Amino acid sequence: MNAISKIVCVGRNYAAHAAELNNPIPTEPLLFIKPPSSLTTLAELRIPTHLGACHHELEIAVQVAKRLQNVDAETAARSLGKATLAIDLTLRDVQDRLKAQGQPWERAKAFDGACVLAPWQAFDNLDTVQHSQFQLLRNGKLQQDGDATAMLTPIAELVAHISHVFTLEPGDVVLTGTPAGVGPLAVGDTLELHWQMAERELQWSARVQARD
Ligand code: ZN
Repeated sequence: MNAISKIVCVGRNYAAHAAELNNPIPTEPLLFIKPPSSLTTLAELRIPTHLGACHHELEIAVQVAKRLQNVDAETAARSLGKATLAIDLTLRDVQDRLKAQGQPWERAKAFDGACVLAPWQAFDNLDTVQHSQFQLLRNGKLQQDGDATAMLTPIAELVAHISHVFTLEPGDVVLTGTPAGVGPLAVGDTLELHWQMAERELQWSARVQARD
């Protein structure tokens, strides 16, 4: 696999999630970037404990297999080789303060360990990913119940759109937005991630640790 040069994320790609945070639905995808230093695994899921609430945002992540620059959705769909589930860790109190001050979100979303990835899964057809369902359970309780067909900008269109803004290099990762149900994590929490994709049923678990 190529080294990951960046992770491009989209905010508010599910209407119900935009509504739960009292945000308007954007007229074009709301993009932000996490650096490679934010990448971590479920086994190493660590949250800062002195910066206010750290929310889970469960998302489908896709990995780019070819260099993509100014491509259309068909080309984008053919150029994605792998997918997985990601947790876009978000320091919600810090983000609220930054938003109120009109400042960029990096302190809330790009810190070390803020992009948690489950193991990559190969797929043959992006349709299977676009028609998948995914859930996050916290301490056994269902928190997020996602249906990828509800994305405001579907994956192929989203990746194509991104390629007109940032050239995507092989290995780069796109996070496709979180459904409703985001909420705070606490050290010691047990998380379960479930993903139903065509006839596949995937499941991972993690334990939340302190970063400091
Ligand atoms: Zn997110």
